[in-house]
Amino acid sequence: MIVVMKPEATKEQIRHAVERVQEMGLKAILLEGTNRNVIAVIGDKRETAQEILAAIPGVERAVPILAPYKIASLEVKRERTTIPLGSGVIGGRRVAVIAGPCSVESRAQLLEVAHAVKEAGALGLRGGAFKPRTNPYSFQGLGRTGLEYLAEAREATGLAVVTEVLSPEQVELVAEFTDVLQVGARNMQNFHLLREVGKVQKPVLLKRGFAATLEEFLLAAEYILTQGNAHVVLCERGIRTFEDHTRNTLSLSMVPTLNERSHLPVAVDPSQGTGKSSLVIPMSRAAVAVGADALLIEVHPDPERALTDGAQSINIPQFQLLMKALRPIAQAIGREL
Ligand code: PEP
Ligand code: MN
Repeated sequence: MIVVMKPEATKEQIRHAVERVQEMGLKAILLEGTNRNVIAVIGDKRETAQEILAAIPGVERAVPILAPYKIASLEVKRERTTIPLGSGVIGGRRVAVIAGPCSVESRAQLLEVAHAVKEAGALGLRGGAFKPRTNPYSFQGLGRTGLEYLAEAREATGLAVVTEVLSPEQVELVAEFTDVLQVGARNMQNFHLLREVGKVQKPVLLKRGFAATLEEFLLAAEYILTQGNAHVVLCERGIRTFEDHTRNTLSLSMVPTLNERSHLPVAVDPSQGTGKSSLVIPMSRAAVAVGADALLIEVHPDPERALTDGAQSINIPQFQLLMKALRPIAQAIGREL
């Protein structure tokens, strides 16, 4: 249920309403808006509390939320959420581009890519230090050293760093170095991990699991939101289908559908989404056209020699082309890049 406060409700009235919710044995999450504040009420007895809550001073109405996800729902918060990313935001007029290698391989590799993508107009730097690999014999990432290189690249370029956290025990370490915590597709329903990243005050980029439905995706985001972290970016990265001409099937209709259901910003990863470097530019253009707030792009100085995901990584000149190709699309829909 949501308790919608009157626009003129005082701070004291809001505090009192939150306390009343808690007294009833329910959880209250205050969602602050520019026009009015809303309190998301969570717990089993919430329906019986509706009339009592509606009568609290300063409350305009108390309404049940129909969707199974609550805080993530547009029913609770009509205003779109923006999430800080370095010198900009995700979810604003500007489409945020986050680019970099699939894996951090060396200091030189990372710094070369970081400077190049910054120059071309990226806002964030991606790069995996801990890699979730299907094969245990494959390169697993540089670990802590990779995190140190990412922090150095941020210092050198001003780009915000996005890197993956694989387990609940790693959250503290990764959060120390990164600006945004990435939760990978394989971990979308790792509920312990979702709870842990929800307790950290760093934005989370949540990838859609490769067999997850829209509802499961939003419920995974809800796990993070219920812990108090309001900064979740939903990232479509393709799903498994019978089609095998691409690594995954990039489900772009997810972007406008998520925008219909949730106030959270939406990112698209056309690199994992297609598995083919030749498809990254066209699918990025399509993603911007359907309303993506951010793109996550794998860029490598020498894709042929990449330790992970070389086939889907674009090189630096191709990244420059991509940025050029996206600008007219962004402009055509009233956005910028
Ligand atoms: C990645 O971004 O390199 C990655 C492993 O992503 P996903 O979890 O979407 O497979
Ligand atoms: Mn990858």
